[in-house]
Amino acid sequence: MQFIKTVLDLVFPPRCQVCRGIGKEALCRECESRIQYLQPSAFIHSVGVYEDVLKSAILRFKFKKRTQLAEPLGMLMVRYLSRHLDTSRLDFIVPVPLHKKRLNVRGFNQSELLAHVLTGYYKVPTVSGLLFRTKDTLPQFNLPRAERLKNVKGAFEVKGKGLLKDRNVLLIDDIYTTGFTISECTRALKDNGARSVHVLTLSRALKM
Ligand SMILES: [Zn+2]
Repeated sequence: MQFIKTVLDLVFPPRCQVCRGIGKEALCRECESRIQYLQPSAFIHSVGVYEDVLKSAILRFKFKKRTQLAEPLGMLMVRYLSRHLDTSRLDFIVPVPLHKKRLNVRGFNQSELLAHVLTGYYKVPTVSGLLFRTKDTLPQFNLPRAERLKNVKGAFEVKGKGLLKDRNVLLIDDIYTTGFTISECTRALKDNGARSVHVLTLSRALKM
């Protein structure tokens, strides 16, 4: 396997997926050092500002399918989480789901890939079939603020009722915009018995 990897590295040298620097990690140290990290607030936990490096990395990850970014981006979430939240009582990690139509087009749910990195680190299972999107909503980011709540209202439901009873959930998403998506997901999880829902997003959009 090491031989195959070496040959592949010669043909396709590893590059930073943001600055394209050759021979570097998928997210190189120089790029990582330019992320604007956020301090925790009472309700929202987001690793960094959705600008510059972090924004480029997320756009490439999602839309150019650079899934090798899942690991370094997920590890940014791990580092944040270990510093600011008590993870010892978590029962499940739940990614914000995509509608199945969009999942089919993209081929993966970016939040789910991030959640798997956290699972690998904390050994808390990612449960992705539990929360699902019943409405094929428009991307929140492109909508005027007034339309956003309407867009996601009642868009999420829970399968496997009873599974969540008295469980502590960590909800994961890539971008926090107005918070409507997160609050709708949280409501669906709590309505189905979750004891607590903590939220961690990779980034937070400050300009809307
Ligand atoms: Zn770079």
